[in-house]
Parts: sequence; C-alpha cells; structure tokens
Amino acid sequence: MKDFISIIFPRICAGCGNSLWKNEEVICHLCDYHLPRTNFHRDQENPVTITFRGRVHVESAAAYLYFNKGNKVQRLIHQLKYKGRKDIGVFLGNQYGRELIRSPFFKTVDQIIPVPLHKKKLMKRGYNQSEQIALGLSESMKIPVNKHQLIRIKATETQTHKSRFDRVMNVHEIFTVLDPLSLEGKHILLVDDVVTTGATLESCIQNLQNIPGIKISVACLATAVI
Ligand SMILES: [Zn+2]
Repeated sequence: MKDFISIIFPRICAGCGNSLWKNEEVICHLCDYHLPRTNFHRDQENPVTITFRGRVHVESAAAYLYFNKGNKVQRLIHQLKYKGRKDIGVFLGNQYGRELIRSPFFKTVDQIIPVPLHKKKLMKRGYNQSEQIALGLSESMKIPVNKHQLIRIKATETQTHKSRFDRVMNVHEIFTVLDPLSLEGKHILLVDDVVTTGATLESCIQNLQNIPGIKISVACLATAVI
C-alpha cells in the first residue's frame, strides 16, 4: 500500500526536493548528513546557555541545528511552521532526542514542555510546531510530554522592528502555569523551534522558576544565536 501511494504521491525530501528511497523518511540521507549540527548539548558553556546568563537560571540549554537565512534548516522550519509538515518536527525531534539522552546534562529530565501557542494561533495553524518537536523528543528520550500546564494567555504583537528590550517587555508575563504544585521538584525540558533572542523562553522560565525544587532546561530545534 505504501508503495502504491508513493507512485501517486512521490515521496520527496523536505530538504532538497529529491525523491526519497524506501528506507528514507522526511529527509534524504545526504541532507541528513549535511545538517549543520551544533553539538551544543555536549558543552554547558555554549551560545544558547550564555544567552540566558544574567537573565534567568537554566540547568542546561542547547539547540540542535544552526539556523541561517536561506539554509536548509530555515527551509525545514518554514515547512514545519507554515506548510503543515508536522512530520518534520517529529522526525528531527526524535533524532535530537537520541543525541540528548547521551548527554549527561539532560539525563535527569522528567517532563518535556513545549512552548505553547496562543489559542487563536493554534486554531489557525491547527497544531503547535514546538509540540511536534516535543513529541519526537519524547519518542526517543522515553520522557512524557506535558502540554497542559504552561499556557499562553496573550498573543505577542509583531516583533520585527523592535529592540531586544522592547521584545522582552512585549512578551513579559504572557505565559501562565495552571497547577504549579504538579511541577514541584521536577526537571523540565522546555522546547521551542528556534531560539534567537531567547525572550520567549525567558518569559516561560520566569513563570516556572519560582516553583519549589523545579529545574529548567531548554532544547530548541535550531538557533540563530551568534
Ligand atoms: Zn535531501
């Protein structure tokens, strides 16, 4: 049946557009091989961790891939966010999870929490791209996803022409935790698609950090942090 479907709808690599071989899923082996991996999870002193320094405390933070204008990673994330390609998030999340579980810094994670979308945006898009990444991570790390505790209570305005300070102000306190007691003493892995200024994640962390005994780490699919 799978072969029959692929005759009518040829399976195409989401990275380069070439046909996929039978044993390939989502992206071809060549694109996979050339993905610009950061390996930040092997080093706690990495650019993503440093981004949060002096702002909020994180146990560990990392991002899987380098995001650059026009690169394959941008193309993949664009399809994940705007073209209904949820499978890209699950696939790359799963791959990333296999690397994260080998890192000593992510071994004690209890729950994976995706950065939530605002209700309206979720209705429009039909799914939360960060949740798809979280589902992939969950598959390979064997750690549950908790998508009901952290919610977004106000959509952010467009942030294109604002300074980092304005952006921080803009997203401040737009997240809330429904039952903080349920997260007491837990090590949470917050998941987002791309980390740039870290403002959105910072805002999430501010809402979680006062829960007694909580530890917060961050894993993003890609980073534009220099
Ligand atoms: Zn390819």
